[in-house]
Amino acid sequence: MARYTGAVCRLCRREGTKLFLKGERCYTDKCSFERRPYAPGQHGQGRLRQSNYRDQLREKQKVKRIYGVLERQFLLYFEKADRMRGVTGENLLSLLEKRLDSVVYRMGMATSRSEARQLVRHNHFTVNGRKVNIPSYQVRVNDVIEVKERSRKVARIKEAVEGARHQVSWVDLDKDNFKGTFKAEPVREELTLPIEEQLIVELYSK
Ligand code: SF4
Repeated sequence: MARYTGAVCRLCRREGTKLFLKGERCYTDKCSFERRPYAPGQHGQGRLRQSNYRDQLREKQKVKRIYGVLERQFLLYFEKADRMRGVTGENLLSLLEKRLDSVVYRMGMATSRSEARQLVRHNHFTVNGRKVNIPSYQVRVNDVIEVKERSRKVARIKEAVEGARHQVSWVDLDKDNFKGTFKAEPVREELTLPIEEQLIVELYSK
């Protein structure tokens, strides 16, 4: 399964905003974007030429990077969102939020989506009691995600669960039993990252 393996802080600097890709480090003064809030590379501090296409492209890249999805898979999400009822941009974000790695992160059982993805791949979770190790697995309302018994001693999971902050209304977490429920469809208003999904719809509608 393909994934981006380069330096992730560069991605925040490229997008001109914090994407919170590194867990706790993102909340400290070690954050690269706090230190160097300009694009990476030799011309990173140069003047940018503005264009609608550039804005649309950057928005798509930003959302892909937040959710750790590569181009082909992102296009498939968009096509599915477009076929669904409702607002395409919101459908797209909802599909991305319902990925198992994203849900694990939202519940607080991992400190970043990339960590959640790795933990899922390493077989640490069950969905409704059944083993699932596919990060893109689409979680449904009322699904129960649980850390396997033997995985509850894994330091990364234990520390994440202990320090879990309540983030969004559509998931809950039972810290004592290392399990959470996906309670409802994701709510657009609670996605606080600066995403303008309409720009992505415009880009793919050309
Ligand atoms: Fe982005 Fe986090 Fe790196 Fe800061 S520490 S640049 S928010 S990934």
